[in-house]
Amino acid sequence: MSKVIDNYTAVKADVSAACAAASRDVDQVQLLTVSKTIPVPVMMELYEYGIREFAENREPELAMKKAAMPDDIVWHFIGPVQSNKIRKVVKLADVIHSIESLAQLERFERIAGEEKRRLKVLLEVNVSGEKSKGGMTPSKLPEIALAASKCVNLDFAGLMTMAPFEADDAELEKIFSTLRILKEDCENAIGRKLPLLSMGMSGDFPQAIACGSTVVRVGSKIFEGVPK
Ligand SMILES: *Cc1c(COP(=O)(O)O)cnc(C)c1O
Repeated sequence: MSKVIDNYTAVKADVSAACAAASRDVDQVQLLTVSKTIPVPVMMELYEYGIREFAENREPELAMKKAAMPDDIVWHFIGPVQSNKIRKVVKLADVIHSIESLAQLERFERIAGEEKRRLKVLLEVNVSGEKSKGGMTPSKLPEIALAASKCVNLDFAGLMTMAPFEADDAELEKIFSTLRILKEDCENAIGRKLPLLSMGMSGDFPQAIACGSTVVRVGSKIFEGVPK
């Protein structure tokens, strides 16, 4: 087996172990491959292996890869989106994890309508309050979640967060549990369930799974040691 498939199956086993430790069903947690900076031939190895969902954080790279790869891929966008890039991202991506403001949500809703696209969206919350992290403050969430629930071109599916790289276990638990509670608050406010809680990366996905994550976004652990 190739290095990347070895890595992928090892991460998948770690996800399963984390689910077992948390008494959760493995089917409740999606391992989402973050393929930013990874060349198409390496991604195609994963595609041949059966992987059909990839996450990118830059529009030009997503455009290039979408054009180069098969049509049956679900593309996730996980990076910040500048206003002048929204139309391009709407045309390219299927799921957006990184909606950060009401103005941005409204632009996505309008442009998705103009482009006759229906997108799944998650609201990114800056739970840690770290300045370098994207996302809205938790205090803005109720208003934006209510607006998201009323969108007709966007399917409001859940929340996303990133924890600080240097966070210890206690801090990770606090951040990830807070996002889970914020999702429950949103569900109560809008009167329906939100399926997606996108949290956990290479360095912290077991902790995120313990706190209820349904999507872990993993890049470096899948691609470490893989020649580019
Ligand atoms: C790069 C990135 C990831 C994956 O991070 P790794 O540490 O490489 O697993 C997850 N989420 C976002 C938003 C990212 O930009």
